[in-house]
Amino acid sequence: MITNKQMEKFAELAVRVGANMQQGQEVVIRADVNCQDFVHLIAAKAYEFGAKKVHIEWRDEKLDRLSMLNADKEAICDIPSYQTAMWDYSVSHKCCLISISAEDPNKYKNCDADKLSAYQVAFQTARQMFRNATMSNYLRWTIVSIPTPEWAKQVFPNEDVAVAIDKMWNAIGHIMRLDQDDPTAAWKKHIDTLVKRAEFLNKHNFEFMHMTNSHGTDLTVGLATDHIWVAAQEEGQDGIPFTANMPTEEVFTAPHCRKINGTVVNALPLVNNGNIIDNFKITFKDGKVVDYSAEVGYDALKGLLTSDDGVLSLGEIALIGKHSPIAESGILFYNTLFDENASCHLAFGASYPTTVKGGTDMKKDELLKHGMNQSIQHVDFMVGTKDLNIDGIGYDGKITPIFRDGEWVI
Ligand code: ZN
Ligand code: ZN
Repeated sequence: MITNKQMEKFAELAVRVGANMQQGQEVVIRADVNCQDFVHLIAAKAYEFGAKKVHIEWRDEKLDRLSMLNADKEAICDIPSYQTAMWDYSVSHKCCLISISAEDPNKYKNCDADKLSAYQVAFQTARQMFRNATMSNYLRWTIVSIPTPEWAKQVFPNEDVAVAIDKMWNAIGHIMRLDQDDPTAAWKKHIDTLVKRAEFLNKHNFEFMHMTNSHGTDLTVGLATDHIWVAAQEEGQDGIPFTANMPTEEVFTAPHCRKINGTVVNALPLVNNGNIIDNFKITFKDGKVVDYSAEVGYDALKGLLTSDDGVLSLGEIALIGKHSPIAESGILFYNTLFDENASCHLAFGASYPTTVKGGTDMKKDELLKHGMNQSIQHVDFMVGTKDLNIDGIGYDGKITPIFRDGEWVI
């Protein structure tokens, strides 16, 4: 059970540690209508800490599904101007953003794969300016999650909805450290540990990360020239720190989009746009996907990998030990925010300009020159198994063990 007091602490974490809203700032909360009560709690906290104004961008996953099933492709792909106006407003008013990620993993199950990928492209294209503002930390943003009925049923299919939601809350409460006396202090300590690992990796400035396991992964990921390993706490372009993902357990940077070779096998299912993709295998040559297969959700994977050119390379490599509280919960959440923090992951598509020195001031061709991948997509997929080994390889060829059997050794 989650108590009202813990819920309040959670809302406070989102406002103060997550987006780190400043007094007098406008806030945009993005959430599905079934998260209404929590949205209002966050809004109340934001006002308590001096928000100028709180806006809400409501989504409605049931309507999304109805539209995907019934509206034609052209209508689906026509992203309305009131929608883009809202995103423009967030950027021009330098709002901070709090998203609640609580999607039914089967939201688009059995929908037309073609229509779905066309919609994805249209949506991401219309959202490009807004996305640049978040990916470059021009806006401070955070993502948190709460259980919803459909999602909880997917995670605990054998339980009644009420029990499933309760189990989800127990797990999320622990993962979010809401069961500790002072969750904010606990978060600060956790962030410190991650930052120290990032500092170690930055000091070594490896040229490659080499990942191997018994599932068939043998992948060499070159790292972008002048890459920076980033952990937990990031800095907004205004110099104010924030925590983009809550929970977060990762230390991540940008691959070099022309220096990736070998094969990687997924460790957990990937839920992309309301579809589950699993047991898939991707082969790269000189930074590009040259072969792929999937036992589950092949069409969805194909839809994703044909959405633009850049999606065929990688924009992120993130390291997470198998003893993270999310990994130890043993729960498969079917939600990227949790599952990506339970396992080392890679991302198809765009890199974060914040993961290369001076990146937020670079133009597209300069970013590309450093090996920073460009795409309208950024889709994380999990590759960290319990037996994953990772070595850092220096520019001088020196090998440094980073992971052994799925856990940090530094
Ligand atoms: Zn990540
Ligand atoms: Zn990512």
